[in-house]
Amino acid sequence: MRRIEKITPRGRPKLAPDRTRQSPMAPTQPGISVVAGDKVLNRMQESHSTLAAALLDWFATSARDLPWRRTRDPYAIWVSEIMLQQTQVKTVIPFWERWLRELPTIEAAAKAPSAKIHKLWEGLGYYTRVRNLQKAAQVVVERHDGKFPEKFEEVLALPGIGRYTAGAICSIAFNQPTPILDGNVIRVLTRVFGIAENPKEKRTNARLWQLAEELVGRAKEAKDARGKTTSHPLLSSRETNFCSFLNQSLMELGALVCTPRNPQCLICPVQKLCVAFKENRTEELPNLGRREAATARHFLAFAVVWNGKFLVQQRPAGVVNAQLWEFPNIEITGAKPAARELFENIFSIAPPKIQPLCIVKHSITRYRITLEAFLVSLKTFPQKTDGIWKTPAQLHRLAFTAAHKKLASAAVKSILSGR
Ligand code: SF4
Repeated sequence: MRRIEKITPRGRPKLAPDRTRQSPMAPTQPGISVVAGDKVLNRMQESHSTLAAALLDWFATSARDLPWRRTRDPYAIWVSEIMLQQTQVKTVIPFWERWLRELPTIEAAAKAPSAKIHKLWEGLGYYTRVRNLQKAAQVVVERHDGKFPEKFEEVLALPGIGRYTAGAICSIAFNQPTPILDGNVIRVLTRVFGIAENPKEKRTNARLWQLAEELVGRAKEAKDARGKTTSHPLLSSRETNFCSFLNQSLMELGALVCTPRNPQCLICPVQKLCVAFKENRTEELPNLGRREAATARHFLAFAVVWNGKFLVQQRPAGVVNAQLWEFPNIEITGAKPAARELFENIFSIAPPKIQPLCIVKHSITRYRITLEAFLVSLKTFPQKTDGIWKTPAQLHRLAFTAAHKKLASAAVKSILSGR
């Protein structure tokens, strides 16, 4: 149903509710008088405060002890937020710890060689993130004297930092009431408020941002109203970190309780306020529309060995996984050719032996990729090659894409076992 934007008596724009799905948490009602409008506004603010208080109470007892929650250092929090994009917490922890051990300051990140930052990121995927992280570190050094900026607009202006990440850093590191909206928060808000429209639509997305802003703006009031303290070891500073904890509670609830499938409504701290729970609509929210169908892609790769060394190539700038290393490979789009025939076409040499090595399957965004690899041992040096030759020990020092790292392990193991 179409939603109508109204100007409240206080001049603040807000959204009228879907009448068919009206709930106590709905923002306002169309066609109401000024006095009634004030009442609705007060009720809405109260309900937001109640929700914020419930989230803060739950977070105070249930927050996971994650390493980046033990610091207020904006650099460490920034690195965690970038790593956590598209990547699970348990995967990120060792990467985050290693990154901060190797590059403990913004200056160190700004100056590190490209090969080093790619190696530290190897296995996390989405490598544009690490290149932007370094560019942003360089901007912080050049424009901000190496001190991470505190103003939201300055944080947002850094390479690789969007509205969500800027909001997360400003709230977590500096306790500012900056809203956040990622997949977890969208799921929680659409369910709690019973929002049936697709969150990717502009108007609905703007409404969700507004709700996230209202909630983080209510955090201090909610905390003051409860006046509770906590014995949680991570949250002893709760007295002052209410914006940080409110935002983190939304993310945490989406990650641990309000999960995409089988949400744990019976133990949910905001169950009494949740429209989706009351109306039995958790399965249908959020309404993300139809998913794009997955596309299958097939690659043939060759682990070419000559004189105890492997031929590897570095991906050029401007392509997916730029600057990472891989074995020679080609995408098969039509009928699958014989591996030997394909090899001879590419390298203009007939190998004495070519044998299946491994098949690696993985997914990147909507692509389901199959990488079929062959081990090729050469007796004579092939003239027609792109790339460089590396010993097994040298291979370990290069940053490979995840699929080719598996291929490298299989190839080295195969050679060492004398296959
Ligand atoms: Fe999510 Fe269920 Fe909690 Fe509602 S009650 S926020 S659907 S877990």
